[in-house]
This record gives sequence, structure tokens and C-alpha cells, in this order.
Amino acid sequence: MHQYDASLVDLVFDYMRARLQYDPVPLDHPGDGDKLRAHLDGLLNEHGNDPAEVMKLYDQHLSRAVISADSPRYLSFIPCAPTKAALLFDMVVSCASLQGISWLEAAGAIAAENQVLRLISDRAGLPATAGGCFVSGGSAGNLSALVVARDTARRKHGVDARARLRIAVSDQAHSSIINTLNIIGVEALVVPTEGHRLTGEALRAAIEADDDRPSIIGVVATAGTTNAGIIDDLAGVADVAGHFDLWFHVDGAYGGAGLFAPSVRDRYQGIERADSFVVDPHKWLFAPFDCAALIYRKPWLAKGVHTQDASYLDCLHTEGEEWNPTDYAYHLTRRARGLPLWFSLAVHGTEAYTDAIEEGLRLARDTAQLIRESEHLELVRDPELSAVVFRRKGWGSHDYYDWSHRLLAGQVGFVTPTGWEGETVARFAFLHPGTSMAMVREILATMA
Ligand SMILES: *Cc1c(COP(=O)(O)O)cnc(C)c1O
Repeated sequence: MHQYDASLVDLVFDYMRARLQYDPVPLDHPGDGDKLRAHLDGLLNEHGNDPAEVMKLYDQHLSRAVISADSPRYLSFIPCAPTKAALLFDMVVSCASLQGISWLEAAGAIAAENQVLRLISDRAGLPATAGGCFVSGGSAGNLSALVVARDTARRKHGVDARARLRIAVSDQAHSSIINTLNIIGVEALVVPTEGHRLTGEALRAAIEADDDRPSIIGVVATAGTTNAGIIDDLAGVADVAGHFDLWFHVDGAYGGAGLFAPSVRDRYQGIERADSFVVDPHKWLFAPFDCAALIYRKPWLAKGVHTQDASYLDCLHTEGEEWNPTDYAYHLTRRARGLPLWFSLAVHGTEAYTDAIEEGLRLARDTAQLIRESEHLELVRDPELSAVVFRRKGWGSHDYYDWSHRLLAGQVGFVTPTGWEGETVARFAFLHPGTSMAMVREILATMA
């Protein structure tokens, strides 16, 4: 199994070469459990199988039952559009068994990952001392950051795990934030939003009206809600966080990439005051799954919380300038998942990223204009980032679901309905630079 096998290499590399050349990537289809199980039946036996047969099974049956998130017609949820350079380097990360645990073992990989974290920190306006690590996703980043918020508050207030602690979140916060609070035993102080946006004023009012203020130790703002791309009043929230001495976490898993886009950069004012910040390069920074950047203003606070204490790890924690990514999140072993982004950034330069992100924003603006000009369509609100939420006048919930199924069955688009104030509506999430207005027109025409 560990010998170099030239024919196996050719088989897999040929597949990868073909996959990299798909233009456009086909959407493909939802799976049928019975059929998939029938194809897989008996495969994991004692003696193994002909690799060509296994590859064929994957190509013809398994891969076609995965809706391609990197298709330019994938406009649901948050799509992905990794650069070729990033995809290729992801294979290098695998091939070289690159891990990213500690400076002792992986200084070369970590130095490069930290260069990317530095670049993102600079775009956010965080100080030179800021730092963190790459984790698997926004959910893992939010969890790791809010554990630090919790434990830092416990230490500061001299309370133990029995003390009631709360973090203010908006009623629009991502589901992973509520999950995180459940996991870490911190209650949510849910602050109502104005037009789905958390403001400093609303946060201040909620805190001032509260009869247990000392238990409120942090606030989470969203830099780009997943549903509609709405950026909270980060500067206002930062003011209130400063006034009440709260940990200020910014969830920019989807929208954080807008820091690289001059046309929207102003809307992120205040992010430079964040105590912690998350952005998912596997969303709008064109990295392959799974990759989230987690950055702390004062990384030493995170290190105090996340460093694992085990005698076999003592040798990792010596004096010096070493940086152990394991110390900045709840993980230990980790893939050096920042490297594909590092390679692609190094190859293409930041301007190419800016252009590609602006392209998603332009698609959203042009689509909004088409919708405004259409008799039967209506914008739910003007897009702020690259998500466009709109309705087809006269349609009920089942119309949207039927339409969505038809679009996918015809391979015209993967566009799932969403909810808005109790109503079912349509939504596009743009970020793939290969999505064209011709595709958008083709999809909108099916709503006539
Ligand atoms: C996608 C998203 C998350 C979750 O990130 P994962 O990478 O899916 O774990 C959290 N917050 C926001 C705002 C998101 O858009």
C-alpha cells in the first residue's frame, strides 16, 4: 500500500486533471440512498478491488450524486469557487502529509499560514500583535473564540464555572453562534435588530434595560449575514462593547472577504476594534474546503485558554518565538489548511482577489437591477453584499419549492428558497466569478 504505483498515480492524476478542466462544472443531482447503497454494496471486502473499477464507481455514481458547490450555477446557501492554484496546492498539502500542529514540527507551513493571517489582519486594521490560526470552518472559529471570551471574563471577574455569563447576540446571528453558546454554557442575550441589522443603540438599550448587567461579558456582531449579506453597525457595537468592557467578536464567515473589496470596505468600519474575528476563505476567498481564519486581537489570551496540557506535549512549549496553531483553538492535530490560500495568493496577488470579489458584488447589483425592472419580481431589500433576496409576486411557498426542484432537475441552477420574516422567498448567493448575467437571466425567465 505504501509503494509508489505508477498506474494508480496515473489513474488518479488523470481524474484530477479532467476534473480541473470541467468548464463549466456540471451541477449534478441529489442522491438516491437505495441506488447509492446498491453501488457500494460489498466494496469494502477483505481483498480490495481493481482501482480503475473503484474510480469508475466514484466518477459515474458517487460524484454525480453530489451537487457541485463550485458550479457557476450553484447559487444556494454559500457556494464555493476555489482557484485552480489553491486546489492544486491542496493536493500538495495532502501529498506531503503537511500537518500544522506546532512550530517544532511544522515551522515552514505555519510561517506561511501566519503570513496569510497577517494579510487578513491588516485588511481588518487589527494591530501587529494580532494572530490566530486556521480552523475547519466558521462554526469552529466562533466556538473557539467565544470560549476565550468566556474564560477571559471568568478570570477578569474572578468567578468560576457556576457563575451565570451571557453574550449579546442579534436575532439574526448565525445558527453556529447559538450552538456555540449552548455548548459552552453561556446564555444568549438576544438583541432585537432594526431592519435585520444589529446597532450600537439597540445593544446599549438592551444592556441598560437589563437587571443583571455584570453577567453580560461579550457581544457577537455579524459582518455579512448569511441569508441577506447584512453587515451590523460594527462601529456602534464596538463603542458599546468598549463602554461596558465586553468581548467584541465579529463573525465574518461569509462577508469578511468584503474587506478586500473597495466598493464595500467602508461598511466594515469598527472591525478594527474586534477582540476576535472569523472569516471563511472556503467561502468568498476562493480556498477549497475546509478553511476558516480565526484571528484574535490579543492571541495570548487564547493561548492561555486553549493550550493543551499533556506531558507528551511539554516539548512543544519551550521558550522562544514559536507559534503553535494548536494553542489558538480547541483542536490539536490539524491540517495545514491555510496553505492552499497562501499559495494562490502568492501566485496571483491580492488584486486578482479584489477583482474576483468585486465580480460577485457586481453580479448582485446587476441582478437587483434586473429584478427592479421586472413586473413580476420584487426585491426584498437592496443587496449590501453578494446575496440577493427577492420574491415572485403572487407565489406561495410551494411555488418556490417546485420551481427550485425544476431548476435543478433541468440543470439550470441550484437555487433554494429561503425564509424572510415568515415568508418563503427566493435567494441568490453570488461569489463564483464564472456565474454570468446570461445564467441569471435564464433562471429569472423561469419565474415569469
Ligand atoms: C457560513 C457561516 C458560518 C458557519 O461557517 P462554517 O464554515 O459553515 O462552519 C458562521 N457564520 C456565518 C455568518 C456564516 O455565513
